[in-house]
Amino acid sequence: MTPFTMPISARAASLKPSGIRRFFDLLENRPDAISLGIGEPDFLTPWPIRDAGVFSLERGYTKYTPNAGLSALRRECSAYMQRRFGLGYDPADEILVTVGGSEALDLCVRAALNPGDEVIVPEPCFVAYTPVVTLAGAVPVPLRTLAGHRFRVTPQALRAAITPKTRMLVLPYPCNPTGGILERADLEALAEVLRDTQILILSDEIYAELTYSKRHVSIASLPGMRERTVIVGGLSKSHSMTGWRMGFAYGPASIIGPMTKIHQFAIMSAPTTSQYAAIAALRDGDGEVERMREEYDARRRFMLKGLRDAGLPCFEPEGAFYLFPSVQNTGLDSEAFCEKLLLAEDLAVIPGTAFGGSGAGFVRLCYAASLEDLKEALVRIERFLGTL
Ligand code: PMP
Repeated sequence: MTPFTMPISARAASLKPSGIRRFFDLLENRPDAISLGIGEPDFLTPWPIRDAGVFSLERGYTKYTPNAGLSALRRECSAYMQRRFGLGYDPADEILVTVGGSEALDLCVRAALNPGDEVIVPEPCFVAYTPVVTLAGAVPVPLRTLAGHRFRVTPQALRAAITPKTRMLVLPYPCNPTGGILERADLEALAEVLRDTQILILSDEIYAELTYSKRHVSIASLPGMRERTVIVGGLSKSHSMTGWRMGFAYGPASIIGPMTKIHQFAIMSAPTTSQYAAIAALRDGDGEVERMREEYDARRRFMLKGLRDAGLPCFEPEGAFYLFPSVQNTGLDSEAFCEKLLLAEDLAVIPGTAFGGSGAGFVRLCYAASLEDLKEALVRIERFLGTL
């Protein structure tokens, strides 16, 4: 008998394991380790939101919802986008409720692209963009961003990356892992380049609530951009709801429709309990979001000063909850720095290379951790740097 060989698609086989995972594996047997590795709020979901989820269960709301999500939730999404960002989306056909922002990213890529289409992916960036593009048979084209440009995509670099095959630009701001943001003037310059192209913008705005110097502006609010933009949002970061898996896609009906079709066959509908909790989050959660944002801001400033004082040059992040210091002057590369720091000091941070080749020479720290842990982390970093 011929032994069975598991069929594995060439695309699945070609995916590299996430550079973050490896560090979590190393962490497993280190109970005293402090992890600033994972990009997750340390706060629990605020009680009124948890209560809304529990109450929905008590009322027996345990069935599927409409594919696109509860209409009451889509109306709440629409009101929220108008209130917070001045954007109008029709709950009937321009909003889709997804399983985290992650699903929304994947759906947009799968619904929009054909094999061979090129997608410009600014780096360093969130680990999922390149794999979902690859799985769709499309071609990720990395666009390097630089600390000297505050990790912003410049119109010159964008223009240079565009080819006749370019069909999508991922716009990952506020940015994980760099903390970079784009301001209105930056967006206007990019819009100028995009206006006469056939490029769809996949704007990942999952950190839109977490900006510290200026309010977030969406590229969709600029003239001529709304019709070529899909916004990915969600509650994981802003409302400390990672485990609830609540994401949203906002865009023209012409793309939300095909995305909803894929979602209908792959997922059916996003978790029902979470959708009821999300209604409460969007309707009544602004105060809680602001309270957490202020807390992150205090931690951001504390850690930025601490890292700089310790001798690590660090770009001032203006959004999300990450710091992205350079470790070049330590003489170690990103991977070696992280591995040695973990083994010597029980402190986990992530090598910049996990976020693309252009992250070489940097490491990512998530400061969505308690101030106590952050203080101790700085002590450990200073001690470690002293040994080099
Ligand atoms: N986009 C970015 C930039 C992220 O950092 C994350 C989570 N780390 C996501 C999307 C996905 O988040 P979720 O699926 O929990 O909404």
